[in-house]
Formats: sequence, C-alpha cells, structure tokens
Amino acid sequence: MSNPTRREFLKTGALSTLLLGSGIAVAGGCEAIRQRGKTKNVIFLVSDGMSAGTLTLADLMLRRHHGRSSNWVRLLEEGKVNRGLMDMASADRIVTDSAAAAASWGCGHRVNNGALNIGPDGTHHKPVLPVFRDAGKATGLVTTTEITHATPAGFAANVESRAMGETIAEQYLERQIDILLGGGHNHYDPEQREDGRDLYEEHRQSGYYIAKTKSELMNGNATEGQVLGVFTNGHLPYTLDHQNTPELLENVPTLAEMTDLAIGNLSDHPDGFILQVEGGRVDHAAHSNDLGGLIYDQIAFDDAVGVAMAFAESRDDTLVIITTDHGNANPGLNSAPDEHFDSIREFRHTNDWIRRGLDTDSSLSQIQERIEYATGYEIPSEQAEFYRQAARGTYRAAYSSMNSTAAVLGQILANHTHVNWVGGSHTADYVELATFGPGSEALEGFVINTQLFDVMTEAAGVAEFV
Ligand SMILES: [Zn+2]
Repeated sequence: MSNPTRREFLKTGALSTLLLGSGIAVAGGCEAIRQRGKTKNVIFLVSDGMSAGTLTLADLMLRRHHGRSSNWVRLLEEGKVNRGLMDMASADRIVTDSAAAAASWGCGHRVNNGALNIGPDGTHHKPVLPVFRDAGKATGLVTTTEITHATPAGFAANVESRAMGETIAEQYLERQIDILLGGGHNHYDPEQREDGRDLYEEHRQSGYYIAKTKSELMNGNATEGQVLGVFTNGHLPYTLDHQNTPELLENVPTLAEMTDLAIGNLSDHPDGFILQVEGGRVDHAAHSNDLGGLIYDQIAFDDAVGVAMAFAESRDDTLVIITTDHGNANPGLNSAPDEHFDSIREFRHTNDWIRRGLDTDSSLSQIQERIEYATGYEIPSEQAEFYRQAARGTYRAAYSSMNSTAAVLGQILANHTHVNWVGGSHTADYVELATFGPGSEALEGFVINTQLFDVMTEAAGVAEFV
C-alpha cells in the first residue's frame, strides 16, 4: 500500500490521532494537525495582478504624502506576518490567468488557464467556499470587479470557462454563498441575461437582502443574513475616478466599506466564516499601463487589508492570507528626481478616463487638453501625435505589444512620472504572500499555489468536507 497523500491522511481522523499519539513526524502534516480547529475564520485578500513594483509604488505614495506606510508593508515591518514567495503557474502555462490562479487556491489543483475548478481531464473539484459551507461556516465574496469575475468565482464556482458569468451567478445562488458584493448587474438583470431570468428576484425569494446602492448597503439591513450587493453594470469604477466623480462616490461603496460590512455580518455566525476580498481592478490598470488607476486601486485594496487585520489582530482564531494571483506589466520607478514621482498625487482621473473621452477623430489639442486635465501634464504635440496614430492603428513600437492606445499613453506619461512598464499582460514573477494567524506558519518561504487550499482546509478542520 502506498503512503496516503496529505489530504487523504487528514481525512482519516483515526490515523491522525494514532500518529499524533505516537509523536511520529509526518512531513508537512504535524504542524497543520496541531493547528487543526484553532482557525475559526479565514479571510483571503487578493490584489489581482499586483507586481512587486505595484506594492512598492503604493507604499511610497502613502509614505511621502500620507505620513504612513501601507498596511501590507507595515505588517512586514512589524514582523506580524509570515512572508512567502509563491509560484502561481497553471496546469498549461508558466504565466497564469486569474481563473486558473484562483482555482489553484480554491480547489487545490492546477487547472488550465480560463477554467474554474475543472481539471484538464474534466474532473470537477469542490471549491473552498462550498467546503466551508458544508462544515457549517458562513461564506462571502467581495470584489471591485463583476462579482462573477474569475477571482471570486475561483473560490465558489465550477465552469469550463471564466466567460460564463451568467452560470457563475446561478451557481452562487445554488451554493448559497451568504455575502456577494461587487459589480456585475448585467449578470443578474433579466433585461441583460440571455435566459431572461431575474436573478435578483430569485435571490430575494431565497431570503437574500438586495442592495444596489451604497446607502442600501449601509442602512442597517445588510448587517445580518444573506446579502447580494451589486452596485454597477460591469466592474466598479477605478478608485481615482470614483473619488473624483460625485455621483459614483454617492452610489458605490469602497472596497474597505464592503469588506467591513461583510466581516461584521459574517462574524456573527457562531461557527465562523470564510471571506474572499479582491482588489480586482489593480489588474485592469496594469493591463492598461494606467498608473493613476493602479496606485489608487492598490491603496484602496490596502485599506481593505487594514479592515481585515483590525478584525484578525483583535483575536486569535482568524487566518488572513494577503497575496496576488500574478504580476502584471511589472511597473517600476526609474531613477529621476523625486518630484516626478510626487506629481502623481495631482492626478484627477485615470488613463482609462482619458481614453474614454478620445477617439480616432480627436485633434491633437483635444488629446493634449484631456491629458492635462486628468494628470496636470502639458504634453508636446509630437507626443499627442503618437497617441493619435495609436488610436488610428498606425503606431509601430519595436515591441508590438506596445502599439495600443493604452501602452502609448502609458509611455507618454512615463516621460513625466518615470514609471514605465514591460508590456501589457500578466507576468511569470513569483508573487508576494503574507499570512497571519493560526495555520500561517506553514506558508513561509517558497510556496506552491495549490498549498493554500490545503492550509485553509486543514487549519480550519474542514478537510473532511473536501
Ligand atoms: Zn488580467
């Protein structure tokens, strides 16, 4: 008979007891068993597509202009977290996408890019939120993207393709995920769903409270019971645009506000909870070489880290995992006088906002004016011409990934910020991992993405429900 795998081993309580009693050390197993059951709650925070440079830039912005470090770096400074470097490869690629990345944590298996908790051989793996639910714990997903987007879905859904947003929304309801907060009205609205189903009404009948605005989320009705909060069609706005658009500020909650609400609600549950929190648009900003989008969304994510840690540090039963699913575009500050970096704090809007107001017919002066309004930079007409060429599809960079309007605008602004980018897609870099609380001891050093599933389920004592 071959040795049992770690998961099989933990499923068999009798064997665990026997080995504990005999004091035999089983590789990787004993520490987890000692922690078993001590972890009542798990909070998993993901800054999607956060390169190491993104963590640095957000921390520098906070230190220079807000007189404090980021929560993430503070935890490292104070020695409160275990730090790891994690390999996020998927089953079929060195460079993962967000679906395969979230699934590696969500079910403990590497799947192909684009798939959610269905292996290359077609095997459906039970995701971690249903595992915790079957063990009697409450469950929640909070994000700044559509709530059906790849990262939250990786913790709760089984679909062949991440593009199946309508099916993912149905699965959340069937699987009774208790708290769902984010964007994605399009996947719940009968007018926009292909099958015409009114998923809001189905949630209401199932007992969920529905919130579609910030005030509906904050009016006290969402503090207990099941909650579906959907605040925008598509993704929530970038933080920089959110902060500078009064209507959005009034109607859309921040990630930290949603996280606070979710933790307050879920922590009333007597048997504990698991909550996934995603700063999902850090990834989108990186894809678009959009520095204002990137830094302020990373800071908004870090605010949610602060909320989660305030809860976890006040008790001894909560495992917190803070990480990212992959690098993206690897931004970095090149050597230049510091005032270039400092000028970023004058930004009013994202590059996304700039690009949305321009098209192939925009004049050079329109391009210059819109960039100046959003960033404060006066750009020369020869650079506006590069942008116009990109909009018309005629711009040619030596590296063809840098031909898009997004990449060209990123390069133009880099002349002022001196923050530049290596491309517009996910990168292979091993990622930062910071963990706190019971069970986190197992996550120091070099970590393989699938280990997080085992650590969560073993630490919480729910492995028998896998
Ligand atoms: Zn991405």
